[in-house]
Amino acid sequence: MSIIIKEVSKNFGNFQALSQVSLEVKPGGLVALLGPSGSGKSTLLRAIAGLETPDSGQIIINGQDTTYLDVRKRHIGFCFQHYALFKEMTIRENIGFGLKIRKYTQAQIQQRVDELLDLIQLQGLGERYPSQLSGGQKQRVALARALAVHPEVLLLDEPFGALDAKIRKELRIWLRNLHDEVKITTVFVTHDQEEAMDVADEIVVMNHGRVEQIGKPAEIYDNPASAFVMSFIGQVNIFPGHANFLTDENLHSSQKIFVRPYDIELLTNPTEKAIQANIEKIIHLGKDIQAELITSEGLPFSVNLSRSQFEQLNLNSGQQVFVQLKNAKVFTD
Ligand code: ADP
Ligand code: MG
Repeated sequence: MSIIIKEVSKNFGNFQALSQVSLEVKPGGLVALLGPSGSGKSTLLRAIAGLETPDSGQIIINGQDTTYLDVRKRHIGFCFQHYALFKEMTIRENIGFGLKIRKYTQAQIQQRVDELLDLIQLQGLGERYPSQLSGGQKQRVALARALAVHPEVLLLDEPFGALDAKIRKELRIWLRNLHDEVKITTVFVTHDQEEAMDVADEIVVMNHGRVEQIGKPAEIYDNPASAFVMSFIGQVNIFPGHANFLTDENLHSSQKIFVRPYDIELLTNPTEKAIQANIEKIIHLGKDIQAELITSEGLPFSVNLSRSQFEQLNLNSGQQVFVQLKNAKVFTD
């Protein structure tokens, strides 16, 4: 099933939640909608689900214009941040709920629930109640419940949002593998750029109800289309336009220089292009080192380097060094 969204706009009163949003999800694709809180991600997902009607534009699922199609006729599975399992039902009953209301036979329900318990790797826990599972396990049950009725599209709204960082990380790898197995067209909402990078084939970056950029994770990271995308995805140093000495380009005052901390080379000896800076602080990040520096003009910035580079250079705080920018990008505010 493909999903095509064509110039969808949606206002709440005079607030524009979605503005001319267009995107495409290929059959079997896994697309992440990524953006800060309030950027319109949930509104867009709800519009795909049929829980929200766009003011204008079209939503085409598998070639059919579904913009005004009833929710129940869309063959969509949902899963939201708060798992909302039925507390008084067992895991088995929770997963089988949608099948039961669709009048599947007992035998059919049992078979499908067994398949799903296998898929979510919770075999043997079917007779438990939600309160007897961990947060991560409950979220997997919520996903199985969404998948039970063989939906053609799966919509996930910050499904791991309520879980702690370590479990989130495990679950997104699990979701990626699950998707490779069931290959259902999936739209995944998150405000976490690392999560989007890890999980999705393609990322749609949203801001203020608009699409800022669509691309594969590496494209978005390496070639951000705007200052917003560059700042939102990964860390970045931002230098004012008057810091002309940092690049060869002639800049205007409305322009700024953006460069990632991994794209600044640290040297202990001067070169023709390198500029002088002082190391203020050295932070050990685990496998990498982050150095906080300041130029002689008083502009602060940070540089990331691997532990081996760090040891080779034998850097210390207070030391005078020389830096050279690689991959600097210029955007207008
Ligand atoms: P996100 O999921 O990216 O955090 P949402 O799509 O939930 O953003 O919301 C986008 C904006 O639309 C927010 O400012 C939100 O307050 C507003 N909004 C969402 N739903 C409604 C509604 N039913 N009525 C009024 N405003 C809404
Ligand atoms: Mg939301």
